[in-house]
Amino acid sequence: MAHMKHAARRAFRTHDHGRCRNGVLMAAERMACSGAVRLTPVRRRVLELLLENHRAMGAYEILERLAAEGWGRQPPLAYRALNFLVEQGLAHKVERLNAYMACMHPPHAHPPVLLICHGCRRVAEVRGETVTDAVAAAARPLGFRAARVSVEALGLCPRCHAQEVQEQEDCGQDIRRQRDRDRGHPPCSR
Ligand SMILES: [Zn+2]
Ligand SMILES: [Zn+2]
Ligand SMILES: [Zn+2]
Repeated sequence: MAHMKHAARRAFRTHDHGRCRNGVLMAAERMACSGAVRLTPVRRRVLELLLENHRAMGAYEILERLAAEGWGRQPPLAYRALNFLVEQGLAHKVERLNAYMACMHPPHAHPPVLLICHGCRRVAEVRGETVTDAVAAAARPLGFRAARVSVEALGLCPRCHAQEVQEQEDCGQDIRRQRDRDRGHPPCSR
């Protein structure tokens, strides 16, 4: 699935997100039309909220948005819709953040590997067959049948990483300047 690789790259880059959003909404509509899913208004709205960008959202953040729009403020409202979307393969639970993200290429049953930026909470999804196959192979000699494998990598996206490197450089410059001041030197140019 070539478009999955592209979708994964887009997650951390500036891009035309309307295309991502519309593609997923259209896939969800098709699933609803074929009778595969019952896309109630609140379920659809929750999917739209998750699709605003590639950032994972907590259930309470979703609930607050729903409440502000007049959907009510009962936690099951958000949880039920989110669980439904996860069950249908339209969303994924991001365990590390205790949050949710829209699946960018539904419907699928493949196990995702989620690359999670702890700086901006954006999540990219890449194919995980090789990882889950390795887990299944390791489990087999033990007689263990792995039914569900979730793989999540926590780290920094290119943008947050660049920002961190910049901050470290700025900090290093500040330290050098301070040291030069302490010694009575004029500040060094670097
Ligand atoms: Zn996008
Ligand atoms: Zn997915
Ligand atoms: Zn980031």
